[in-house]
Amino acid sequence: MNHAPKHPAGLWVLFGTEMWERFNFYGMRAILTLFMVNSLVMKEEEASLIYGGFLGLCYLTPMLGGFIADRFLGNRNCILLGGTMMAVGQMLLFFSASVFSTNLPLAKQLMWVALGVIIFGNGFFKPNISSMVGSLYPKQEKSKLDTAFTIFYMGINIGAFLGQFFCPILGDVKVDGVRDIFAFKWGFLAASIAMIIGTLVFLVLKNKYVVTPDGSPIGGLPSKNLASDYEEGEAQKAEFSLKSLILSVVAFIGLFFMFRYFLDGKNAIKTVIYPLIYASGITLAGLIISDKSLTKVERDRILVIYIVSFFIIFFWAAFEQAGSSLTFIADNQTDRNFFGWDMPASMVQIFNGIFVVILAFPFSLMWDNLRSKNREPLSPVKQAIGLAMIALSYFIIAYNVKDLGNTGLLAIGWLILLYFIQTVGELCLSPIGLSLVGKLSPKRFASLLYGVFFISNAAGYALSGTLGSILPATGDKFQKAESLGIDLQGVLNKTVTPTAEQIKLLEENQISATNPVFAGFEIHNLFEFFMVFVVLCGMASLVLLAISPRLKKMMHGVR
Ligand code: GLN
Repeated sequence: MNHAPKHPAGLWVLFGTEMWERFNFYGMRAILTLFMVNSLVMKEEEASLIYGGFLGLCYLTPMLGGFIADRFLGNRNCILLGGTMMAVGQMLLFFSASVFSTNLPLAKQLMWVALGVIIFGNGFFKPNISSMVGSLYPKQEKSKLDTAFTIFYMGINIGAFLGQFFCPILGDVKVDGVRDIFAFKWGFLAASIAMIIGTLVFLVLKNKYVVTPDGSPIGGLPSKNLASDYEEGEAQKAEFSLKSLILSVVAFIGLFFMFRYFLDGKNAIKTVIYPLIYASGITLAGLIISDKSLTKVERDRILVIYIVSFFIIFFWAAFEQAGSSLTFIADNQTDRNFFGWDMPASMVQIFNGIFVVILAFPFSLMWDNLRSKNREPLSPVKQAIGLAMIALSYFIIAYNVKDLGNTGLLAIGWLILLYFIQTVGELCLSPIGLSLVGKLSPKRFASLLYGVFFISNAAGYALSGTLGSILPATGDKFQKAESLGIDLQGVLNKTVTPTAEQIKLLEENQISATNPVFAGFEIHNLFEFFMVFVVLCGMASLVLLAISPRLKKMMHGVR
């Protein structure tokens, strides 16, 4: 690290490809919910649920993409396929955002198809590009992996930054304070073009640069894998018995219906997609851990992956408010004056990417430094710190929205501070988690365990959708209701009973006449909303910290 080891040229090809892909993904993510609410006239609550379900599925399909690559198509083909699918998906969103004013049902259908295509595209792309980073380094050079992943993580976030800059500039446009609901399409078109560039970069440069030191291609067809790629005596792939596969299917169905029962609701996202994500994660985890070939040490280490995966669900659930509730708050109850410029609401999340780019190297230097002094925290402890950071960030915001009432505006500086603290948390948790899974997994289960890890991200996103949908009314809703002659605060406090006419008016303006409820608690205001995240992440952090000595034993020497 200090003497800057030379990295293979292939890393930069993967860096560039991933950068353009994340441009497409995060750029679209920035404007998606605003598009749904403003152009497709959905309620914020509904948009948040769809958003959570969409992101969740994007992290569920990598299991499939990894599996298909390992068995049939190879990493390279899957990346090309995934990239093409995502470019097509964005183009469909472009069409959706072009036709909504004349044909709303068609626009909605196009949006569903687009999201579906992007979900599978991401599933083919994401796990394969990440695992190719690892494959670039022969066994004796694995020590360079931490830095390689740091560089790669910067590529991710430079892409996120660019996407979150250009897509909002083009798509989230306000003229004299009034939103131009026809502009979103340009943001989606930009995302599509970015993905086309990324796919072309990879297509053109892969044969020359994404190769082993002796020049043979990396990530080709699995049928061309050499036995010499594996350690002697090592099983090359995980084989499950028919009995455990059947048991898994039964368990999956049982779990699916159990979650469906508990997540009871009218919305198909809640009753189908969320149960699908939760049940898949638990089933896959169970399938792996029940494998008879595992030794005691291997089993202990896998259990650590599961425990850590459980805790990071809360992290992503809170972190991913960026694209839903935090964007709505930025849109509706924030003074976005940034050095004299009214920043588009969807762009405020850009500070996450900026801070990752600034902080990634200092962080990896800091860990190196602590390691050399033998004071580097254990990985789960780092992750507990990450969770504590998220809790802290929402605690600060909660206190700042407390006295805003129904008309006050939050200063943008507080959201920037929130993203700063969350980014510090992300850097303690996310790259660390990726490398921890690599270090703890037996090689034959590595891609499946990455699958479990990604599903825990998916579960976090699903939970983020549920939590985002309990966002109570923001200032704009109270003002809108007032202009309709309705005392919304009175209605919500149940001191005023609205007439049927008024309920209809509120409905037409996408305003709920009741406060949201979470786990039996009514959420009355933004303060209580943010405190939900403080409590969830704060508790998760403390419990993880408390059990970390036990986890240390179960890791058997891995840190
Ligand atoms: N921001 C990172 C990425 O896009 C991490 C996301 C995640 O792991 N959930 O890859």
